[in-house]
Amino acid sequence: MDNDIVPGLLATINKEFDQRTIENAKLKSALQLLKRKRATYRDVNDYAVEVGQILADVLGTNVTAELLPDGHMYFNIADRVLNETLKKNYDLITGYAIDVQTQLNREAGLRLKAQVPELNRDRIVGIVNRLVSEPEFDKIKWLLNEPIVTFSQSIVDDVLQRNVEFQAKSGLRPKITRRVVGKACKWCSNLAGSYDYFDKPEEIYQRHERCRCTVEYHPGSGRRQDVWSKKWIDPQRDAKIETRKQLNIKKNTLALNA
Ligand SMILES: [Zn+2]
Repeated sequence: MDNDIVPGLLATINKEFDQRTIENAKLKSALQLLKRKRATYRDVNDYAVEVGQILADVLGTNVTAELLPDGHMYFNIADRVLNETLKKNYDLITGYAIDVQTQLNREAGLRLKAQVPELNRDRIVGIVNRLVSEPEFDKIKWLLNEPIVTFSQSIVDDVLQRNVEFQAKSGLRPKITRRVVGKACKWCSNLAGSYDYFDKPEEIYQRHERCRCTVEYHPGSGRRQDVWSKKWIDPQRDAKIETRKQLNIKKNTLALNA
């Protein structure tokens, strides 16, 4: 099919997206924060919103009814365009989020690897199906706007969720904080707060459209609970013992070499 519009469309979208993300001041300062070891999940959320907004803008200007055959969004167009561009969002956002989580873990003295969630393809399928279900693209093109930002935010929530679960299974007692951002609705205001991982509301990761609330996690409370002994222990203790052991080995090796 040589009237396939997708390759050309994707090339334009990718080019504009790359240019805008590279030049973006907010994304640049997020990377600076990471470099200075100051980034938190709040910054990851801001980063995701910005990346999502850039993609929504680029899609909005390039995917138009005039370009689409009969002004309708066909499955084979929506499927390829959204899978490629949203995968790219996922790569960018998880990349940043994982670096932040790694840093938070280190800061808290935890020798746990940051966990990477899988790309949630069901969410992409959901957007694609709704786009193609409407005969007139113009009536449904709003789906390429705010829902793209929500999708991007959900990637952050996925990273957080995977890591919090992993740390809880590793014997920690994570606390998750949900914070309202901007003018929050009643539902969001009620949901805001700090929760113990084992006692958190079911809806903690849920968001409605245009919801900018953040879900945050910092492993650095300095204490962890041993699930077996149910006693608070010092997470630095093992590290201190380990350092002492290594110093002794060094000392012994030095003695042997002398
Ligand atoms: Zn909200």
